[in-house]
Amino acid sequence: MNILLFGAPGAGKGTQSALLVERHRMHHISTGDLFRHAIKNQTPLGKQAKGFMDKGQLVPDEIVVGMVEEEFGKLHGKQFILDGFPRTVPQAKALESILNTHKMRIDKAVFLEVDQGLLMDRLTGRRVCRKCGAVFHVAAKPPKSAGRCDECGGELYQRDDDKAEVIKTRLEAYEASTAPLKAYYEEIGRLVVVDGTGEANQVFSRIESLLRA
Ligand code: AMP
Repeated sequence: MNILLFGAPGAGKGTQSALLVERHRMHHISTGDLFRHAIKNQTPLGKQAKGFMDKGQLVPDEIVVGMVEEEFGKLHGKQFILDGFPRTVPQAKALESILNTHKMRIDKAVFLEVDQGLLMDRLTGRRVCRKCGAVFHVAAKPPKSAGRCDECGGELYQRDDDKAEVIKTRLEAYEASTAPLKAYYEEIGRLVVVDGTGEANQVFSRIESLLRA
């Protein structure tokens, strides 16, 4: 099965993708992770994306689509999970054409539904491991040892775009550009809406039972 996960920043896409990848051994394509990796390695792609990301804006469609096309070239028919792509209706249309080229399809577009107040709390409290990318939360999922990752001992940091002033722009970009994807996937009969509140494992169980349905 090939799935995509979408929802507002802080809805839990990254966390749920990691659980799905662990359970089903799917190939994980996260456009946010790909950009962060490119920025860390100071590639031309990273330099193009950084200015937009730092401001909490979406990276322009043509840059994102080009990067995703390249990732599909490396899939070799493996099942995949798309995390954070598409984020606009034009990206969703471009995805259809990439899928056609590779004779693949999206089976389910999973929308993680979370209300705005909870999103702010999740984003401002989120801490990420610099080494392995594991995600923590200062209150809801604190690490055993302050500032250190439970998995690998790496340093935990707050993403620049998780600072309060940038979050506002990200949520506005979500409302304007990403929220309309819900109607898009409903219309083509792929939409699955999942309640994204509660603990990660509870949300994961909901996703699993809807994927089986
Ligand atoms: P994420 O890790 O998914 O929250 O993405 C972090 C940031 O990367 C977003 O706020 C955007 O600036 C950029 N980004 C990731 N995926 C996309 C996309 N599909 N379209 C445009 N920008 C993206």
